[in-house]
Amino acid sequence: MARTSHHQPRSPNPPLPRLHGERVERRTPPARDRVNIRLPRTAWLAVHDEAGRHGDIEVGGGLYGARDSGAIRVSEATTAVRNQRAASALLDNNAIVDRDRWYERNFPDRPSRRAGEIGTWHTHPSGGGEPSPSDLATWLSAYDAINAHRSLGHYLGIIATPTITENRDCEKVLTWAQPELHAWAVTRDDHGCAVYEPAILERTR
Ligand SMILES: [Zn+2]
Repeated sequence: MARTSHHQPRSPNPPLPRLHGERVERRTPPARDRVNIRLPRTAWLAVHDEAGRHGDIEVGGGLYGARDSGAIRVSEATTAVRNQRAASALLDNNAIVDRDRWYERNFPDRPSRRAGEIGTWHTHPSGGGEPSPSDLATWLSAYDAINAHRSLGHYLGIIATPTITENRDCEKVLTWAQPELHAWAVTRDDHGCAVYEPAILERTR
């Protein structure tokens, strides 16, 4: 994302630039209070295959689904198609309505009429399942954009990372054979403050 230049007087310890001006504070609720995400095997495989195919290149896509009695049920995980569905393309929040329509058109058998975009996934090829400041800014702005159209409890961010294994020369290398999925949920609290927290990911059939 392009950064605008600022002409500020130099100080010994200049503050770090804030990506979108709003801090997303981390919360760590006890496990019983965390957001539950149900991820079907098909969605998990879509992420797994796409991550493995691209290796070192960061890839991503959309997560579609709906809230369902306490949990968020993912129906589909989409993947990048000529950059149209890439995580970077998802930065364009004006396209939220288009993306919901795209989902309705392409998944007429979606389980719920309320189903729509509920998050995104992307890879961190060099590892580390924590969201970056720009991940948080992206998720928060998607959360706000979707809420302008329909109520959304949380916006989900799933980060896929490779795991460490040993090759024949006993060197430690990263592999996508068994990727780890790290789930996060972004929302605004009662005061409108932006918060994010780890979520519980449950694989379903
Ligand atoms: Zn990231």
